[in-house]
Amino acid sequence: MTAWTGISEIKQKIAETSAEEVTASYLETIGKSCINGFITTWDKALEAARGIDTGGHEGPLAGVPIAIKDNISTTGLSTTCSSKILQGYVPPYDAHVIEKLRAAGAVILGKTNMDEFAMGTSTESSYYGATLNPWDAARVPGGSSGGSAAVVAAGEAPVSLGSDTGGSVRCPAAFCGVVGLKPTYGCISRFGLISYANSLEQIGPLATNVADIATLMDVIAGYDPRDSTSINRENTYSNAMKDDVKGLKIGVPEEYFGEGIDEDVEKLVWDAIGKYEDMGASWKKVSMPHTKYALASYYIIAMSEASSNLARFDGTRYGFRADGDNWHVMASKTRAQGFGEEVKRRILLGTYALSAGYHDKYYLKSLKVRTLVKQDFDRALAEVDVLMGPTMPTPAFRIGEKIDDPLSLYLADVNTVPINLAGVPSISLPCGFVEGMPVGLQIIGKHFDENTVLRAAYSFEQNTEHHTRRPGEVA
Ligand code: GLN
Repeated sequence: MTAWTGISEIKQKIAETSAEEVTASYLETIGKSCINGFITTWDKALEAARGIDTGGHEGPLAGVPIAIKDNISTTGLSTTCSSKILQGYVPPYDAHVIEKLRAAGAVILGKTNMDEFAMGTSTESSYYGATLNPWDAARVPGGSSGGSAAVVAAGEAPVSLGSDTGGSVRCPAAFCGVVGLKPTYGCISRFGLISYANSLEQIGPLATNVADIATLMDVIAGYDPRDSTSINRENTYSNAMKDDVKGLKIGVPEEYFGEGIDEDVEKLVWDAIGKYEDMGASWKKVSMPHTKYALASYYIIAMSEASSNLARFDGTRYGFRADGDNWHVMASKTRAQGFGEEVKRRILLGTYALSAGYHDKYYLKSLKVRTLVKQDFDRALAEVDVLMGPTMPTPAFRIGEKIDDPLSLYLADVNTVPINLAGVPSISLPCGFVEGMPVGLQIIGKHFDENTVLRAAYSFEQNTEHHTRRPGEVA
């Protein structure tokens, strides 16, 4: 069995030993890993930890090791987005969240594996090979932040950061039995996050418990003028760590239990809602009629934005460059050889959706549908405090099972993408097991009302045992 150590236990260990020893023990565990969760470990991690020891750092994360998804820029540490096209790219600056983490005393362990450019639900499309699920090495860890969830579940890092464009923090959190938060759009600066679909995505924390999610949010959230969508709003997330849901009104969207949902997953989610009732909350069914259009709208918007965002990767400035007699040949060969299948598919479809003659028919129409989806949330959340449903319709599927059928992979995102279209916050936390695999409960809140979502999640955790089960060692 692997040990899950939360931030408070880490701090205790540092006080008894040192930050350097704690970091060294994580690096040793990572060295023995067979889940392929990390692409790179930071060669200066021990030095940074030693600096915390000698400098007497008193920040909220002094000496706490953390793993970072490989699409978040880190000075001096390669950032590849799991793509060949960014092989060898070392950012000259830190993302806003990395600046905040370093200032708080966190020690970056390394960069985690992901679907190429965060496009996927399984972490199988990485140029660096698939990450394995620590609960069953034959299954996917979810995606696209599969590495960030798997290393936390495997005890190779106590906490991590991922990014969530359409479910990429919550899906792997659900599949790996950990907690993951997609904050409200605008809460956390995206400065230094390599964009896939910038109108949808947020950086989000992953951890083994809800309190650690709140601690990380206290460090990384906040205003940054370098991201024009960043909101200036103060909040203390750790204030929400109260075991109290008396009077909480829960809405259960019927559309989140539609076709394709596994019966056992459905039962566990209803059991969780029953538990909330025992704890003093009330629930009622709500209807979100535009949910059925959310997937199509999401994929058109996400691919359109991707086709524009990924235009900058042409061999001129970053990473991999193919040979060519002139710029045009070099750029087209670089893109042909540097991007993987799924990324190329999305660039082509996104370019098509934005092209003259189709722009109105696909892209503009998707934006209109997006507004309707958001209005579903506004209406439902005017009547209740939070919404609850399954994060994913099934437990983690097998490696290779869906990889040749992109549409079936896209369908797995049915309950996560509406949240990104609306921009609201949502957390996934463990609510039980199906055939030994963890299942995630999704709790969705009003814009900037993370604290109600966190309080609901914390209360569930305090009154249940699901989060105490650990994966065995991967053979
Ligand atoms: N699976 C979704 C996609 O492929 C979500 C990915 C994400 O959140 N980055 O677009």
